[in-house]
Amino acid sequence: MPILVHKYGGTSMGTTERILSNAHRIAADIRRGYNVAVVVSAMAGETNRLLGLADAIDPKSSGRERDVLASAGEQVSIALMAIALHKVGIEAVSFTASQAGIVTDPFHTRAKIKSIDAGRLRSVLEKGGVPVVAGFQGVTDDMEVTTLGRGASDTSAAAIAAALGAERCDIYTDVDGVYAADPRIVRGARKLARISYDEMLEMAGSGSKVLQTRSVVFAKKYRVPLQVLTSFEDKPGTLISEEVEGMEEILVTGICSDKTEARISVYGIPDQPGIAAQVFEQLASQGLSVDMIVQGKGEDGLANMSFTVTKSDLNDAVKATEVVAKKLKARQVSVDEKIAKVSIVGVGMKSHGGVAAKMFRALADKGINIYMISTSEIRISVVIDEDYTELAVRTLAKDFDLIEEDEGVVSA
Ligand code: ADP
Ligand code: ASP
Ligand code: MG
Repeated sequence: MPILVHKYGGTSMGTTERILSNAHRIAADIRRGYNVAVVVSAMAGETNRLLGLADAIDPKSSGRERDVLASAGEQVSIALMAIALHKVGIEAVSFTASQAGIVTDPFHTRAKIKSIDAGRLRSVLEKGGVPVVAGFQGVTDDMEVTTLGRGASDTSAAAIAAALGAERCDIYTDVDGVYAADPRIVRGARKLARISYDEMLEMAGSGSKVLQTRSVVFAKKYRVPLQVLTSFEDKPGTLISEEVEGMEEILVTGICSDKTEARISVYGIPDQPGIAAQVFEQLASQGLSVDMIVQGKGEDGLANMSFTVTKSDLNDAVKATEVVAKKLKARQVSVDEKIAKVSIVGVGMKSHGGVAAKMFRALADKGINIYMISTSEIRISVVIDEDYTELAVRTLAKDFDLIEEDEGVVSA
């Protein structure tokens, strides 16, 4: 029988009524002839509540203990979901990640899945039952509990769907699909019936938090289609799959923004070979990754360099930069935390010219200054002043025709 994976996010697990309604939906897919495996998040707000307790004692508490604590949220959810399934007459068995064989690397709070031994899940499915697996968590080879980063239940679900060879992974959330722009910023943004893996990867990586980026990596690698849909209503969502004919006709598919990065600038460094290598080797040696980079000539034949890092890495990145800056006798190191990255994404860019010019003109006409630019084959990102984020997203949504009917835009 074909297998479907259902993943329920925090809001969809928010109350016992919602959990029971999910059980009915699972029962309906079983009646349609599917075997269903379920992956659940903690109840809405629970992960924040648990980590808040740790922070109240010590914000720098150990990653190992934070993982034991945070993973408890999903353990509550699997049991409640299994109980709800029993209530509607379905055999179900709850599994923590360690029981489900989800093995990760040992990096607490940001572990990556190494392998899944799906044998136990399969044996439940073969008997017509529903395995209910805790998302967000894993276990190391040494039986240590890990978590996979915030929002990672999506990734657990996609990885389990891949391991089970599922026909599709349905991600049930509080929006009815993927929109061309965050519906909380752009009212009337177009809902996408379909989007390619590559576009969704770029959108998730550029700040669209509807799916965790790594879930799309798994889905693409193992060719599992994902569907984002709401658990609040019965209607079709957005299918994330291989690129299909016609997708390239649309110039821009989506717009996203990201306020989680900060910019570090180093002024007055020698303009000669090997300087950039020294700066980024120092950052890499601390395990710090950099997103956008710009280098240009300054005064007196010296060079200036700017790059962005995530705010959570900022202190470590500044320390590492200052070490090299001192060696290079740089004039100054400065930091700007009030920046935002705004990106437009679309496979149509591969075959249409002038997209960048149109984006920069739209921003210029609103008086928005661009600090940095980076591109991929299907994405253009700019760094701007954080205060202009919403204005930039709304302006671009309008100019690239991503608003369904022009209902007007939400004011900031
Ligand atoms: P869950 O708890 O179910 O995992 P999330 O809060 O992680 O849900 O993700 C859903 C949210 O993603 C939506 O409420 C929405 O505000 C936000 N979002 C951001 N960008 C988009 C987009 N382009 N399309 C749809 N939702 C988006
Ligand atoms: N409960 C976890 C979190 O809040 C994982 C998830 O929701 O995907 O980050
Ligand atoms: Mg989520």
